[in-house]
Amino acid sequence: LTFEELNLSPELLKGLYVEMKFEKPSKIQAISLPMILNPPCKDLIAQAHNGSGKTTCFTLGMLSRVDPKLKAPQAFCICPTRELAIQNVEVLRKMGKHTGITSECAIRSDGSNRNSIHNRPPITAQVVIGTPGTILKWMSCKKLGASFVKILVFDEADHMLLEEGFKDDSLRIMKDIQRRSSQCQVLLFSATFDDIVKNFISRIVKDDHNQLF
Ligand code: AMP
Repeated sequence: LTFEELNLSPELLKGLYVEMKFEKPSKIQAISLPMILNPPCKDLIAQAHNGSGKTTCFTLGMLSRVDPKLKAPQAFCICPTRELAIQNVEVLRKMGKHTGITSECAIRSDGSNRNSIHNRPPITAQVVIGTPGTILKWMSCKKLGASFVKILVFDEADHMLLEEGFKDDSLRIMKDIQRRSSQCQVLLFSATFDDIVKNFISRIVKDDHNQLF
């Protein structure tokens, strides 16, 4: 499989070849990208370790689903740590450099008033990547709308669910999206699939999802 065969836009292909300097899809990308990108764009749960190339799978999923003309959040990516959120935003900005797609990192601010969400206008970035607590907080104070979200990613779901409270926040975000948005694709990546992860999965993906182990 080549990246061309995935029907990606010329802007995204430029991001992959020129910015990322990728030549062809890795193994997990070759298997998962057709599932993620081709209609009916089913939900996907995938076993993926760091270094497998999973970031590209969900980043391309988000970048190819977002409408650059609609100035509203359309893709959420939920991460277990601030560091991973920052890293994922950097990859998305680099890969999507030629698309004009905008992104925002939703992580706890440094405490100064200037950065407080309360002093900012509502988020218009098209992709929002962050930790569950901050995403939920921004949604609760009406700074982050979920009406147009059509793809929701959980990165390192197992790590995320280990922390008390993360699961509840994630399920609340999920519920809010389902309530407002008629159709949302869920991509969930996890290195392990123990009972905690399986229980979480059963509550967030549709019955006819794809699996990759
Ligand atoms: P990840 O597992 O997503 O963190 O990716 C691990 C590393 O592999 C990162 O440094 C990526 O830049 C690199 N990588 C991902 N996909 C490809 C690809 N198709 N070709 C070459 N390198 C890649």
